[in-house]
Amino acid sequence: MTAIQEHICDVRSTLSQGVTLIAVSKFHPEEELMQAYEMGQRDFGENHVQELTRKAAVLPKDIRWHMLGHLQTNKVKQIIPFVHLIQSVDSIHLLEQIEKEAAKADRMIHILLELHVAHEESKSGFDSNELMEVLQHWSEYHFDHIHVDGIMGMATLTDDEEEIRRCFRALKAMHDRLGEYLGQGHYQLSMGMSHDYLLAQEEGATMVRIGTTIFGERDYSHKGENK
Ligand SMILES: *Cc1c(COP(=O)(O)O)cnc(C)c1O
Repeated sequence: MTAIQEHICDVRSTLSQGVTLIAVSKFHPEEELMQAYEMGQRDFGENHVQELTRKAAVLPKDIRWHMLGHLQTNKVKQIIPFVHLIQSVDSIHLLEQIEKEAAKADRMIHILLELHVAHEESKSGFDSNELMEVLQHWSEYHFDHIHVDGIMGMATLTDDEEEIRRCFRALKAMHDRLGEYLGQGHYQLSMGMSHDYLLAQEEGATMVRIGTTIFGERDYSHKGENK
């Protein structure tokens, strides 16, 4: 087994049944994704449209691609044909663009609504009030080609466990209210990264997004080539 394959096994051994592991492969080359694929890993997360489309073109077709990074409206069209779940939906404007392109492609696009709960200003996502607004008016938008699968979010980048739990509880609270607005069902709660996924799992995550623990540190020196 390679190091990546051992890391996948280690991470899996810590996950509860029913929690989906998204292997976050941004900035890692195709051959490293294939090592994970050979271990049966099928859910992969990426942050940049160009890198995502490049990898999807050459890697096996049964990979489920998750878009995790901020998505510009002018790039929606490129991922609509193949994306499995857009986790980083953070504005009405983006929803409108997804609906438009999904209608053209005659595809139902599954999304998560990204909720901003962390203390960092720079992180994207709806704030709670905005998201409540969106949910209250959901049926009026006629997003017929969009299916909301649940909520995604990130905790504050800190070692303070109480602060991290506060973030995860805020995400869980929003997740628990989705049924009131969108109809009863099983909704996903995507939260937890390498450094905090065990806490996220304790607080009710149904999906965890893990990069560094599986693939190692990212090498950003080729960043420009991915854009
Ligand atoms: C990069 C990224 C991750 C994975 O982060 P690691 O710390 O490497 O596990 C998870 N979620 C999102 C939204 C990311 O951008």
